[in-house]
Amino acid sequence: MKIKKKNKPVLTGKKFSVFDFIYSIRVQIFITIFLVLLVPVLISNIFLLNITKKNYIEQKISKLQAQNTMLRNCILSENYMDNMDSALVKAELNRLANGYDGRIEIINNDFIIVTDTFALDENKTSISELVMRSMAGDSVSVYNEEGHFLEFAMPIVIVGNGNVEDNGKEVEDSKMVGALYMRYSTEDAESFNQDLFSMAMAIDVIVFVLAVLLAALISKYISIPFKNADKTLQEITAGDTGKTINISGYTEIRQIGEGINHLLDKLGEQEKSRQEFVSNVSHELKTPITSMKVLADSLIGQENVPEELYQEFLTDIGKEIDRENDIITDLLSLVRMDKEDADINIATSNINDIVELTLKRLRPIAALKNIEVVFESFRPVVAEVDEVKFTIVVSNLVENAIKYNVNDGWVRVSLNADHQYFYIKVQDSGIGIAEEDQDRIFDRFFRVDKARSRETGGTGLGLAITKRIVVMHKGVIKVHSAENEGTTFTVRVPLKYIDGEATNNKKNSDTKKNDTNLL
Ligand code: ADP
Repeated sequence: MKIKKKNKPVLTGKKFSVFDFIYSIRVQIFITIFLVLLVPVLISNIFLLNITKKNYIEQKISKLQAQNTMLRNCILSENYMDNMDSALVKAELNRLANGYDGRIEIINNDFIIVTDTFALDENKTSISELVMRSMAGDSVSVYNEEGHFLEFAMPIVIVGNGNVEDNGKEVEDSKMVGALYMRYSTEDAESFNQDLFSMAMAIDVIVFVLAVLLAALISKYISIPFKNADKTLQEITAGDTGKTINISGYTEIRQIGEGINHLLDKLGEQEKSRQEFVSNVSHELKTPITSMKVLADSLIGQENVPEELYQEFLTDIGKEIDRENDIITDLLSLVRMDKEDADINIATSNINDIVELTLKRLRPIAALKNIEVVFESFRPVVAEVDEVKFTIVVSNLVENAIKYNVNDGWVRVSLNADHQYFYIKVQDSGIGIAEEDQDRIFDRFFRVDKARSRETGGTGLGLAITKRIVVMHKGVIKVHSAENEGTTFTVRVPLKYIDGEATNNKKNSDTKKNDTNLL
C-alpha cells in the first residue's frame, strides 16, 4: 500500500489551513511552553527593576535628608542667617553640593535667595512652590523622575526657649528665619537602573532563545504519538482496514488508540455481518429463482410435453414463487422492525386469548404428525403488548415446536405471570438443537438443517423476527435444548410496556447474544 508522504488530514477531507496549523497540538504546546518559560522571567524582571530603583531612591532621600538636617543645624548654630560669613557653613554647603551633585539655596524670610551654591540666583526672589511650603513650616521632598532630580525644602526656625507668661500660656518665641532649598541629581540612580535594564534585557534574550528551542523540542516530541495516530488513521481511511492503531506514549492517547481499535473491530464485525447478510439474502432469494428456471427450462426443452407434466411443473413453480414471497415478506417485516422508530401498537391485551387462538390455528398442522398440543395457563394474564406482533412470537415458537418435532410427539405451552412480568414457555419433544448452534439460531437465515427447514417451508428468519419483537417489548428470550430430547423456549415480557429509555435497552438486549440467560 502506498502512503502519501505529506501528513495532510484526509479524514476531514479538507485542506490543511493556517487555522489548522495554529490549532495543531504542536503549535499549541509550543506557545504554552514558550509563554510559561518567558512570561515569568519578563514579569520578574520588570518587577525587580522597579523595586530596585524605588529602594535606591528611598535610600538616597533618607540619606540626603539627614545631611540636610545637619546643614540646617549648622546654619542655626553658626547664626548664618544674621551673619553670612561662617566658614563652617560654607564648607558644609560645598561638601554637600559637590559630594551629592546638587545645588543648595538658602532663602531668608523675605524669600530672597541669600546663598546659591551655583551663584546664579543670589539676591533674587525665590518663586519655588516648595520654598513657599517650607516657609509655612513644612519639610518637603519631591522626586522628579522625568527630570532626574530630587528636591528638598525645609524651614530654618530658631526654636524658642519655652518661656511661660504670667497667665500660664507658653510664649510664642520660635522664629522663622528662612528656608533651605536643595536639588540633587539622581543621574547615578538612572545609570544604575540603565545597567540593570541592559542586564535584564540580556537575560530576557537568552531566556527567549532557550524558550524557543525548548518549546520547539518538547512540542515536537509530545506531538509524535498524535502524528503516528494520524498516519495510521490515514492508512485505515485509505483502505488498509486490517490495521490497528498502536500508539505508545501518554495514557490518554493510548486510550484513544484503544477506543479507535475497539471501534474498528466493531465496524469490521458490522461490515462482516453486513456482507454475510447481503450474501445470505442474495443466496436465499436466488434459490427459488434457480429452481423456477430449471423447471421452466426443462419444459421448454422438451417437445410434446404432456399436460400433466405442465400441471406438475407449474405447481412447483407456484410453490417456489410462494417461497420467494415468504422470504421477501419476512425480510420486509424485519427491516421495518429494525428501524429506530419502528411502529409498535401497544394495547392492553389478553395473553391467554392470543395463545389459545394461535394454538387453535396450529393444532390441525400438529395433527398431521399426531403431535399433542397442550396449553397450561397458571393465571389469566393481561399485558400491554402489540397484539399482532406478539401473535407472531407465539405462532413462530409453536410452529417450530411442531416442525422440528417427531411423529407422535408433544408440545406444551405454559403461561404464567408475577407482579412485573409474564412468562411464556414453549416446550417440545422434538429433535433438539446442538449446544454449539443454540447461540446462532436467532441469527438471520441460520438453520441447523437447511434441507429440513426448506422442506418445512422455513425461511430461517422466524426466530430473528421473534427475538426482534420480544426485544421491542423490552423482553428477553432464552432457549434450552438437548439433541434428540427436545427444546424449550422461554419468553419473559414486562406486563406494562416501558417506553423512553427503552430504545437503549432495546439496542443493548438486541446486540447481546447472551441476553437470553437473563431468564
Ligand atoms: P426456520 O424458518 O428455518 O424454521 P427459524 O428462524 O424459525 O427458521 O429457526 C432457525 C433454526 O432453528 C431452524 O432452522 C431450526 O434448525 C432451529 N430450531 C428452531 N426451533 C426449533 C425447535 N423447536 N427444535 C429444534 N430446532 C429448532
